[in-house]
Amino acid sequence: MAVTDCLFCKIVAKDIPATIVHETDRTLAFRDLNPQAPTHVLVIPKGHYENAAALAAADDGLADEVLTTAHAVAVQEGVADSGYRLVFNTGPQSGQTVFHVHGHLLGGRDLLWPPG
Ligand code: 5GP
Ligand code: ZN
Repeated sequence: MAVTDCLFCKIVAKDIPATIVHETDRTLAFRDLNPQAPTHVLVIPKGHYENAAALAAADDGLADEVLTTAHAVAVQEGVADSGYRLVFNTGPQSGQTVFHVHGHLLGGRDLLWPPG
């Protein structure tokens, strides 16, 4: 169910434009507006779940599908072999700013560890 004031539900509905790089029946992947690496793609379920915890609790294979989609995008972007990072900011200390679960797929450069 789309949440009316949710930015990413609006992207799913194509009410707000985004550069979509991959789409399945239940997932969408699009470029981050403010990329932090040469490849920075957001991978989301089309359905609205607040964060990774809510998606994990959905228990219908959707979390698997988001992960599978993220890897497919990594292959498509040419970073599967060089390596990539998948980040789901979740919970008060994580820095999550958009409350529709999204995996940040980051790659194309050496990524620092630990992250900030
Ligand atoms: P968070 O901080 O919630 O983990 O990540 C939210 C991400 O969404 C940020 O990296 C931010 O750049 C991205 N973002 C925010 N608004 C938009 C938008 O309208 N379009 C796209 N493509 N990305 C957005
Ligand atoms: Zn949403």
